[in-house]
Amino acid sequence: MRVPSCTVQAIPVASGIAIGRVMVFHSTSLPVKDIKITPAQKDEELARFHAALEITKVQLAELQTKLRAKLHDSDADIFEAHLLLVDDRTMISEVEKSISEELYDAESAIYRAVDKFAAAFSAVEDSYLQERAIDIRDVGSRIVGNIADAGQQMLAYDEPRIVIAPTLTPSETVGLNRDKVLGFAVETGSATSHTAILARSLKLPAVVGMPRDLLDSLTVADKLIVDGFSGKVIVNPDAATEEAYRLKQREAERIFRQLSDESELRAVTTDGFSVEIAANVEASEDYNEIRRQGANGIGLFRTEFIFMDENHLPDEDEQFEIYKKLMISAGNDPVTIRTLDIGGDKLNSGISRTPEQNPFLGLRGIRLCLRERRDLFDTQLRALMRAGMHGNMQIMLPMISCMDELRETRQIIESLKKELSARGVPFADNIPLGVMIETPAAAMTADRFAAEADFFSIGSNDLIQYTIAADRSNERVGHLYRPGHPSVLRLIKYTVTEAVKQNIPVSVCGQIAEDMAMIPFLLGLGVNELSMSPGAIPLVKKLIRSCSMHECAELAEQAMLCNDSAEVMQLSRKMIHQRVPELADI
Ligand code: PEP
Ligand code: MG
Repeated sequence: MRVPSCTVQAIPVASGIAIGRVMVFHSTSLPVKDIKITPAQKDEELARFHAALEITKVQLAELQTKLRAKLHDSDADIFEAHLLLVDDRTMISEVEKSISEELYDAESAIYRAVDKFAAAFSAVEDSYLQERAIDIRDVGSRIVGNIADAGQQMLAYDEPRIVIAPTLTPSETVGLNRDKVLGFAVETGSATSHTAILARSLKLPAVVGMPRDLLDSLTVADKLIVDGFSGKVIVNPDAATEEAYRLKQREAERIFRQLSDESELRAVTTDGFSVEIAANVEASEDYNEIRRQGANGIGLFRTEFIFMDENHLPDEDEQFEIYKKLMISAGNDPVTIRTLDIGGDKLNSGISRTPEQNPFLGLRGIRLCLRERRDLFDTQLRALMRAGMHGNMQIMLPMISCMDELRETRQIIESLKKELSARGVPFADNIPLGVMIETPAAAMTADRFAAEADFFSIGSNDLIQYTIAADRSNERVGHLYRPGHPSVLRLIKYTVTEAVKQNIPVSVCGQIAEDMAMIPFLLGLGVNELSMSPGAIPLVKKLIRSCSMHECAELAEQAMLCNDSAEVMQLSRKMIHQRVPELADI
């Protein structure tokens, strides 16, 4: 049964219009144990279970071979035990029975069987058998992960679809098959949640804040229009509405194409001030394509996205190859690579060893690298220094809140240089080291940091959440998370002023760098560079070429005296309406 036609207002997080049928995404991170099926679905669920078992066997065998090369045989043998479990007849029959007789879906059936067996092992007073309980759970999650694997889920459909889900984690988003997805409509998140950032980098329209009861009632038979400009979602539209949106879709594409044709032009204001425009990348995207969109370099490479696969962390050589390839394709253009920023909403349980009560305030980014995963940090820094030989690299550190973090990293780099020299490995000796200004602590001590850092990059997504104390990925406090809050502008102003005094460059690489209403203030406050998702570059360049630095500076001064974000935004919207009316609604 299809859901009756209706329209809901969600929160737009990635622009564009998607029209298509629904794909209900089953999250790998939610251990659901009681999803029932109809008798007619039994065979399909059994097939999903067996397909996942086969994938799991191959994965485990591969892991075992890989680990044998690196570890003692006895450590690699742990996967031998896992392989035996995957073949265990009792376990397999239990799952099959749960699907065919008790009518649970494959995921629920696996969790139930795993619970049953693990509980039995845990109850035995023998430490060896108790540990087997952990193995059973581990194997169980791996099989469920493979069942729910996004790629697998999508293979079921021959045409691309709109993905709906209560939540979609960054690693799940990365795992989606781009060719099979038209857009996203999810319940949780915000414009600066990492899932939204990825949607923009994949150039897929997306909205968050979808009502949960609606998501629960949608099925694969329902059709949606997702308007990533306004946030409207139309369920099972009538023919006239669908046609109107198809027109809007074509019109938006036309404007984007037109702007893309001008994207080679430099971003120079009408009174002659030039602004550097760079791209944010989340994986090893094709730099030539990014350059075509109008970027002069990479302002932020979020390297944590190459660490999202919990079953495989890239080693030094693998990372070296990724960074080197990017450096070579960028030629002389600057490439700013951020060290691992795991934590917050970018989780990888294979990296963070302890669950966090407050992930955004916990051992995240540089904290995790220095305190708990020096091994990964050293490996990454070595790979970066080696790849730095191949182009114009800068390294930047995320989540900095005190000077010690910068100083300690410098010391680590110095000792790694000695290590590489001793081994005769070539590396770049003088890679600039910058800090991200994304905590109020770093912003308020920008004078101190500017004396020791080579450059600043303002990570406004985090700076806003930490300043206003409003979780960036929680749509329930989305009304408080306001980029134009005068406190945020004041912190940016202080940061830029201190950077200018010490003569170091300062860029902005958070979402506000592509937010039309925020850009005039950033320019007016003296920001030298904006780094953003590549798809936004043509629009941003158009805006910059349409206004003067003089008026931006005046606007920024007025904003400092505003009471709240609404007043601030009114100032810039008015200016945009006058200068570039065609962009006002985008
Ligand atoms: C930021 O915080 O603004 C930023 C660019 O980093 P991320 O969004 O990856 O946290
Ligand atoms: Mg950040």
